[in-house]
Amino acid sequence: MRRKVIAGNWKMNMTPSEAVKLVNDLKDNVANTAVDVVFCVPAIDIVPVVEAAKGTNICVGAENMYIEEKGAYTGEISPNMLVDAGVSHVIIGHSERRQYFKEDDEFLNKKVKKAIEHKLIPIICCGETLEQREEGVTLTFVKGQIKAAYEGVSAADALNTIVAYEPIWAIGTGKVATTEQAEEVCASIRKDLEEIYDTDTASKIRILYGGSVNGSNAAELFAQENIDGGLVGGASLKPEFANIVNY
Ligand code: PGA
Repeated sequence: MRRKVIAGNWKMNMTPSEAVKLVNDLKDNVANTAVDVVFCVPAIDIVPVVEAAKGTNICVGAENMYIEEKGAYTGEISPNMLVDAGVSHVIIGHSERRQYFKEDDEFLNKKVKKAIEHKLIPIICCGETLEQREEGVTLTFVKGQIKAAYEGVSAADALNTIVAYEPIWAIGTGKVATTEQAEEVCASIRKDLEEIYDTDTASKIRILYGGSVNGSNAAELFAQENIDGGLVGGASLKPEFANIVNY
């Protein structure tokens, strides 16, 4: 049985003081759950959020990281900085990073490997555009993203990764994928992982759905055979996040 993961992706929201308030408002309401709860927060919020989440079941994640340990990379954050600050997870390759910051598959593969090297759990994002869905190339496109992300990653290391399938047309649009659409792609990703590794490894890797997950659609999505939780944007900033965690 795969343990479910519900991860919030705050994106570029919440000042440090707002962040601490949100953790304090949510922590008791996400405490009694059998799922892994992760708050992926802006870099500047990491230190206060780790502090505010001490003694709770909340794991703190980053939304991005760079591929070097230190040096002349103005503005970047290294994996060891994240680890030292108390971070356990890191989102890699969110579609907003791919689109606005031109992060490509090859670069993201380096990030996945760096995260693994530092024992950070990468939450590897993939997903198609509306155009690609309409063209009928969703499964092959996503397979390409998955193959690229896991290039050179051993089966043992792959067990410590999480995939998040996020159709771009469903992100922040209120337009959630149907459970059938979400399950179809998540099942296909599991097949892709089986091809790259083996059945046993693929059966143990958690695959999340993301894109307009909310308190009312979470239960149905998470009941699908291949959907092991969610990556939640907008709703992770509200009290509603507790309803998703307790779906
Ligand atoms: P959303 O974002 O829940 O606001 O659609 C999801 C995400 O981008 O991770």
